[in-house]
Amino acid sequence: MSSVPDHTPAPSSGALLEVSGLRKSFGGTEVLTSIDLRVDTGTVVALIGPSGSGKTTVLRCLNGLEQPDAGVISFDGGPSVTFSAATTRRRRESLRTRSAMVFQGYNLFPHRTVLQNVTEGPIHALGRSKAEAEELAMRLLDRVGLAERRDAYPHELSGGQQQRVGIVRALAMTPSLLLFDEPTSALDPELVGDVLRVIKELAEEGWTMVLVTHELSFARDVADEVVFMDGGVVVERGPASQVLGEPRQERTQRFVHRLL
Ligand code: ADP
Repeated sequence: MSSVPDHTPAPSSGALLEVSGLRKSFGGTEVLTSIDLRVDTGTVVALIGPSGSGKTTVLRCLNGLEQPDAGVISFDGGPSVTFSAATTRRRRESLRTRSAMVFQGYNLFPHRTVLQNVTEGPIHALGRSKAEAEELAMRLLDRVGLAERRDAYPHELSGGQQQRVGIVRALAMTPSLLLFDEPTSALDPELVGDVLRVIKELAEEGWTMVLVTHELSFARDVADEVVFMDGGVVVERGPASQVLGEPRQERTQRFVHRLL
C-alpha cells in the first residue's frame, strides 16, 4: 500500500476512546472486572495476556457486539455510553459504526464474493450507494493486492488473502478505530507476514488501533502502548518498550518471558 486513503482519520491529538469501569459476566462468572482504557488518536494499543483473560471480550464490548454489565464508553469526546443491567440493545448498537473489527477467523460471508463481502456493510449499515461502495472497495482491494480477486469466493482464497479482505472490509466502514482480534493466529506461518505488513502500514498511516495479539515482537514494533490483562483485570500498562522490555509486575514478566 502506498498512499493514505481519502478517509484516513485526520491527525489530531487527545483521546479517541475512553473506557472506564467496564464489567462483563457470562452466566454469573465475571470475565471483565473493571477495565479502564484510553486510546489516543493515531496511536496503537496492543492488548496482551493469557488465553481467557478477557481481551476479546473487551474488543467485542467496544464494538457493540457484547453488552457490558457496567461501565462507560466514549468515542472522540462525543456523548458517553453508560451501561447498566437495564441498558437497551439500541444503546449498545450505537457503538457499532465507531469502530470496525478484524476477526481471528476472518468471518467473511462464504456465499458472497470478495467485492460483496466488502460492500455489504457500507451499503446496508451506512446507506452508501452501490456505486460508491464498490468504488471505495476496489480502491482498498487494490492497495492490498486483491483487486483481481474481486469475484472470488472466500474458499478460493488463502487464509492470508481472506484476512486481507477482512481488513479491507473493516476499512470500508470508515471507522475511527480499528479493532484487531488476533488477526494472524489462524494463519499458516508463511502467510502471517503479509497480514502483519498491512497492519503495520495502516499504523504508520495514522490509523488508531486496538490490537489483541500473541505476536509480542510485532506488538513491540507497532504498538505505542501495551496493556497486559490477566483474569479480567489490567495488570500492567505502559509504553511498549517498557511493558515488553522491562515489565514491572511478576505476572507480566512471566508471560512476556515465555513468549518473547
Ligand atoms: P481472551 O480473548 O483473553 O482469550 P475472552 O475474552 O475470549 O479471553 O474470554 C474471557 C473469558 O470469558 C473466558 O473464560 C471465556 O471462556 C469466557 N467467555 C467469552 N465469551 C463467552 C460467552 N459468549 N459465553 C460464556 N463465556 C464466555
